[in-house]
Amino acid sequence: MQELLKRQKGLHRTVLIVDDEFIEREILGAMLEDEYTIIYADDGELALDLIKKNRLTLSLIILDLHMPKLDGYDLLEILHSDNELRRIPAIVLTSEKGAEVKSLKLGAADFITKPYDVPDVIRARVQRSIELAEDSVIIHETERDALTGLFNKEFFFEYGKRLDHQNNNMPMDAVVLDINRFHIVNELYGKSYGDLILKKVGSAIHDIVRETGGLACRSGSNRFYIYLPSDLDLDVLIPVYIDNIDKAMGDKKISVRIGIYMDDGSGTDMEHRFDCANLACGKLRSSYTSCYDFYSAELHEKELHHEHLINDMDRALAEKQFKVYFQPKYNIQGDRPVLVSAEALVRWFHPEFGMVSPGEFISLFESNGLIQKLDRYVWSEAAAQIRRWKDEFDFLLPVSVNVSRVDIFDPELNDVLKDITSSNGLDTKDLLLEITESAYTDSTNSKEITQKVTSLRNMGFKIEMDDFGCGYSSLNMLTSLPIDALKLDMKFIRNICNNKKNFKLVGIMVEIARLLEVPVIAEGVETKEQMEMLKSIGCDVIQGYYFSKPVPADDFNRLITAEKEALVKQL
Ligand code: C2E
Ligand code: CA
Ligand code: CA
Repeated sequence: MQELLKRQKGLHRTVLIVDDEFIEREILGAMLEDEYTIIYADDGELALDLIKKNRLTLSLIILDLHMPKLDGYDLLEILHSDNELRRIPAIVLTSEKGAEVKSLKLGAADFITKPYDVPDVIRARVQRSIELAEDSVIIHETERDALTGLFNKEFFFEYGKRLDHQNNNMPMDAVVLDINRFHIVNELYGKSYGDLILKKVGSAIHDIVRETGGLACRSGSNRFYIYLPSDLDLDVLIPVYIDNIDKAMGDKKISVRIGIYMDDGSGTDMEHRFDCANLACGKLRSSYTSCYDFYSAELHEKELHHEHLINDMDRALAEKQFKVYFQPKYNIQGDRPVLVSAEALVRWFHPEFGMVSPGEFISLFESNGLIQKLDRYVWSEAAAQIRRWKDEFDFLLPVSVNVSRVDIFDPELNDVLKDITSSNGLDTKDLLLEITESAYTDSTNSKEITQKVTSLRNMGFKIEMDDFGCGYSSLNMLTSLPIDALKLDMKFIRNICNNKKNFKLVGIMVEIARLLEVPVIAEGVETKEQMEMLKSIGCDVIQGYYFSKPVPADDFNRLITAEKEALVKQL
């Protein structure tokens, strides 16, 4: 821009005349020399040299098509494919009709036919070409990002929408590219290095757009938007683009991430497409290697749903939308099944979504720490229910609660559990704690977990290892873990009746429990056949639909009543 203003402040504009014929050069030069500074070249190669040297000050090129070495067409092609040089207008000198179309296609601004018109006509054409080009430079500079030469965001969306309109909403994909940890690049290596990286990425994006007929802009400091026709095979092309961009940046410490929205024919507008691509890009974690991902509507729906659940959690607790259900556990080793405890399982009665199962929200709440609040609530409800059954039925039924691995790191855990039991007048042994095997094995802090659980056990809480068989603990490790019962994972029970190997496996797990001198609990038992097989191999306790689904406390009352009646009969 500055350059342009300098040139406009009365300085002579410079015109390059390229022709191998001395006479032709002289005639044209004589026509223009009063108004312009003229420089000459007698072949294409020299011309290209002069153009490069004077690229900032040259206002126009007048170009003969037929020359030795590099001819006019080739020179036009070179100029046209160069981002910087293509802004200099070229007028072509020609005597053949067919050449005009070809030169215009190659980006020529105008043409002058030989033999020459009267000088005034030529001067007028020269002046007009220069003015048009200068106007378009001004437009170019307001539309473009100065650093990369790509559109700025505002014009990008304007042209994109125009393109959609002109092309009758031809399918277009949205691609968002971000440079990972760019602020660190700037901080560590300086702003000029950062600018250099941006320029290189910008230039690689220029190439993509040129090859595909798309549009691109820089949006914000290190984010780029690319709008591409959908007929490209992005699955194949994106890795190629990434490779090119990585090569262009030439710095292994810097990587990019790319989010893609593929046109799904829903006719959504350009802004929304880029919102979706932005989401896909944002989800990728910055890494040291470049990566990409596609936007998926279902995944996004799921995320929104999760977000909804997270936002609603506090209110749900306050409004008691969470209900604790109880599922009985029976000891089956005697003549009749004996009710020995129950597991507390939470359900969410959401005003909008209805009953939401814990499978949907437990791991979500584990990932953001909300589980602690919910579990404390469930433990209190479970303890209060043990108290109620004790008071109403004179029946002390220990209840197991699930303790998430996240809870175990809570420094207040021991005090919280102690408070819950003592405030309900219960003994610590009345509350059983279910901790999954994987809590011990997946964690890098398995030693710390073992210490914490040991301290709970020393307080009198009974520990049941939940989902045993999924966590891959070694036998050696198992002997040193603080456990009072092994609870086999449901998936081993599911097909013990029709899969011999599975049955044998369960037998081995029962043997392990014997070795550890703890009882075995099988959960997910749905049929009599399963129950009997488990009984035959020495499984002690059974939990599952065969006896009862998890039910509200009020429905559970009848199981307690039945148990009491059986006890009386036994006497
Ligand atoms: P889990 O601790 O392994 O609980 C057993 C799951 O098996 C429960 O699913 C239960 O309803 C289900 N189940 C019981 N018997 C049968 C059966 O015979 N057949 C089949 N197919 N399923 C049976 P639910 O209630 O959906 O809970 C799923 C998981 O959510 C639980 O698995 C537990 O890990 C977690 N969870 C539930 N409530 C709580 C809670 O209050 N706190 C924490 N931290 N986790 C909880
Ligand atoms: Ca459990
Ligand atoms: Ca389980």
